[in-house]
Amino acid sequence: MSEPPHADVQLRFACTEHSVGGQKGAVMYLRISEDRARKARPRKRRRASLLASHLEVRTFNVGHGEAVLVTFDNGRAWLMDCGSNSVPRNERLGNHIIDYLEENDAVLDTIVASHPHFDHAGAIETILGSASPNVASPVTIYRTDIREWISSSGWRQRYADAVAARGADVDEILLLSAHREVTISDHASAHIYVGARDGVYTSLFVHLRYRESRLLFTGDAYCGYEVELLNAFGSADFRADVLKITHHGSSSGTAATIVNEVRPGLAIASTGDHGGHRLERDTLDRLGGRPGPRAIFETVVDGDIILRTDGMSYGGGILYEAEFESPGRFAESLGGEILRLAYVDSTRTVSDHPNCV
Ligand SMILES: [Zn+2]
Repeated sequence: MSEPPHADVQLRFACTEHSVGGQKGAVMYLRISEDRARKARPRKRRRASLLASHLEVRTFNVGHGEAVLVTFDNGRAWLMDCGSNSVPRNERLGNHIIDYLEENDAVLDTIVASHPHFDHAGAIETILGSASPNVASPVTIYRTDIREWISSSGWRQRYADAVAARGADVDEILLLSAHREVTISDHASAHIYVGARDGVYTSLFVHLRYRESRLLFTGDAYCGYEVELLNAFGSADFRADVLKITHHGSSSGTAATIVNEVRPGLAIASTGDHGGHRLERDTLDRLGGRPGPRAIFETVVDGDIILRTDGMSYGGGILYEAEFESPGRFAESLGGEILRLAYVDSTRTVSDHPNCV
């Protein structure tokens, strides 16, 4: 197979609202309502107030893995997974995150380790090993209470050793079949949901609420597990403007049922040029296709995806600012590529999975 074509960044930024990867600083405004994202043109004053106080969600292009940093209006930060696909890359990613926190004067309060996979949690040991004042003391980790986290060798053992070495400076909270509500700031809270066992894919889901905005993070999950959580906790708890697509867009996740209940206006995925890390054709169809009234962004096409919201209404939706940094701040050192949308479209596949349709 010939080399996949790499996107021309300048060219890509001039294209449609559903495919807008661009160089640093490329910004667009969206008003997001149920199942729909529309371009917005807020006045200067509203833009300034959004910039002055907002929630920021930064989905880094980390190649084959996932790392999303959420910074709240009080300068505290949560990391929703942090992993890439090799030991040296995970070490670099952990150090990049520490540098990023220091540069931006943010304090990492909480790490959500959605499930025990290397490409989601492999960089956490480096972060825990850091003496940086930008990692809170104690830093909280949420993870599932499943045996797949335990191993006497490899990265899971090193993770456990890093937790033990940090001692009282880490508060590791283990959850199973649970709902936990966490207050983050005056206007921000997180609701964390975990179902019963689904093997290594028993994922923590996080529903972030900032003023009127809602964002749902779903780790890597199968459709059956998504539906189980929906049935256990109710659709009102899952409605969101933004859906972090589960399992990098694999066919085995993103049930039609959950799309219909979450009704996201915008969906984002951490993707790479590889089955298992690709936003597949059937997943895309369940999200309503592209282009559609819903906006869909993915890291292998758009680079780092940065969303900011003041959590307040605008023209019948919630105002978001979307910025794209291509190929992504850490992409080069982590093997994160940028590919043309047409090429990625040509590689998407379809496969049958129960509970998805
Ligand atoms: Zn994954």
